[in-house]
Amino acid sequence: MEDVIRTVKVKLNVPTNRCDDLHQTKDQFLHCANTTAEWAWRHPDEYCVTSKQQAENALYERLRDETDLTANLVQKGIRRAIEATKSGVARLKNGETTSQPHFDAWSVVYDKRSATFHRDHVSLSTVNGRVECPYVIPDDPEQTPIGEYLLNEDYEFRESTLQYDRSSETFYFHARMRRTTDDYERAAVASSDAEHRTVLGVDLNVDGSLAVTSTGAFIGNADKMNHRRREFEKTRGSMQQAGTRSAHLAIQSMDDRERRWVQDELHCASNEILTEARKHSCTHVVFEDLTDIRKRMAGVKRFHAWAFRCLYQYVEYKAEALRIGVEQVSPAYTSQRCSKCGFTDEMNRRSKHTFACQKCEYELNADYNASKNIARKLLKRLHSGPTSSDGGAPCQCALKSGTLTLNGEFHASVSSTVEGESTDKPTTEIVGY
Ligand SMILES: [Zn+2]
Repeated sequence: MEDVIRTVKVKLNVPTNRCDDLHQTKDQFLHCANTTAEWAWRHPDEYCVTSKQQAENALYERLRDETDLTANLVQKGIRRAIEATKSGVARLKNGETTSQPHFDAWSVVYDKRSATFHRDHVSLSTVNGRVECPYVIPDDPEQTPIGEYLLNEDYEFRESTLQYDRSSETFYFHARMRRTTDDYERAAVASSDAEHRTVLGVDLNVDGSLAVTSTGAFIGNADKMNHRRREFEKTRGSMQQAGTRSAHLAIQSMDDRERRWVQDELHCASNEILTEARKHSCTHVVFEDLTDIRKRMAGVKRFHAWAFRCLYQYVEYKAEALRIGVEQVSPAYTSQRCSKCGFTDEMNRRSKHTFACQKCEYELNADYNASKNIARKLLKRLHSGPTSSDGGAPCQCALKSGTLTLNGEFHASVSSTVEGESTDKPTTEIVGY
């Protein structure tokens, strides 16, 4: 069916005490766009960067630090600049002259993640939480675009923009409305909301594999990162002793290179985690809470805590586009609890890397055991949370060979029964959580 999109301009009745939050949001949004444009525009010395992913990899974290914007608004700012850079590059190719894009018009882009659209108001994310803005609807909207599209249930909201008119000091919402008369499509949207919730647990480590999932994927190589880190620190130490200015500069460029190398590794790991999540149709990915991890977990250096946070953020923002939720749960007892029988004891560790249950004798990789417990914790929270009243959508953990519900019901996945090699044979080891 043909796409029908209409843009409707509607005045907003912004609470007076929240106007400033919107202005600041705009300033920070434009800061993201301008910072990105400056970074991406390299003409005439180099090729300009027109990849959103590359720009996000390089700038996302820094812009999250520099602003109070939500992840989604930072991404939108980056994307806006990359779109403009692309059109600039196209103009250059046509032989036209153009220069680095610059953004100063009052405009912020909102979509479903940064705004909640209603028929009579919109809730907008700002630097200071959400602000609810009622639409100013004319008395007789029937024959106007507002009546025809904005108030019409056959149209849904798409990516829209917030603008401001300085002369009248008024905020306007330019709502982009798309027709959804296709019943089939509407049914698909409705069913995706009530879909099963499936959780992928992720355990992070300072040695061995960087991340281990509840589906038994061993991702990244923490040992390799540690080794490289030690070599790097050795070299830096000896250069620092030289103490010259050139040594200082060399250390700086080494720092940059080192950080980029680690970030690349973490991007790869985050992609693998999400590939695993998609493979198992997960709706959620869950990590242990990373707060105070250095105090809690042996062997966690500042470097590891930083790397874990980066990894978490990469997964978080990439998951957004995939509509996968990313959560953290308390790590208490996740390494001591047997993921098969639930028996929890300090002695349940045979060695650093092997978990051996003192009660049921279940033995498996310790990190893999922990990741299953992490998944289960979120499952419990989702199950008891307010959202589970919406028709009782089923909740389950994604495991290597299938899925497991809270009360121990196991469903083998089709692909894993074909594999047959799984160490999680459902009948013997997983059921009876
Ligand atoms: Zn056990």
